[in-house]
Amino acid sequence: MAFALCPALAGEARAQEWVYKPSTSTGPTIDAYVKQLGPEANIIAHGDLQIDGKSVNCGKRPTVINPNFDSWGGAFPGFLILNTNKISGLTTQVKLYIYSHECGHQFVGADEIQADLFAIRRGVKWGWLDAQGMEDICTFISQLKGNSVHPPGPKRCETMRKYYRQLIENDTRTSTTTPDAGAHTLGPPR
Ligand SMILES: [Zn+2]
Repeated sequence: MAFALCPALAGEARAQEWVYKPSTSTGPTIDAYVKQLGPEANIIAHGDLQIDGKSVNCGKRPTVINPNFDSWGGAFPGFLILNTNKISGLTTQVKLYIYSHECGHQFVGADEIQADLFAIRRGVKWGWLDAQGMEDICTFISQLKGNSVHPPGPKRCETMRKYYRQLIENDTRTSTTTPDAGAHTLGPPR
């Protein structure tokens, strides 16, 4: 898979690999994909997916649960793929990162770094990512070697960590420079 987080099995998976090209953005339809996988795959409709009890979504896109997928997650235009077997031992924040990274591809295209940053931005914005989670993500990603589309894991960690810090700092700055944020009321006090 072009969007696979883990390049380790890329060689073996080449036969079914599909390379994202925005100009000719064609992937399989979700039905064709699931049919090809057989009975072990199933489709989770948008709004129904939960990760460790947390509801997640990627706009209106459904997720295919594929326990035999060669990576933790993947993405084709219009739908996401999660390997629930592979992610089961990970911490919640790492799982959410993986899902959000794949979701990011729906918006940023094939760029791996941009998909990583999308996930971090989402984590901060939606409140599920904290400093510990950022460390967990780094520990997880740092084991991965790079390939032609994925920078080496430690580099991805560094880029995400830096971005996380920026987001947090901006957040703090915004709230300290607007101490009277409480002034945004419906109308003047009476
Ligand atoms: Zn990716």
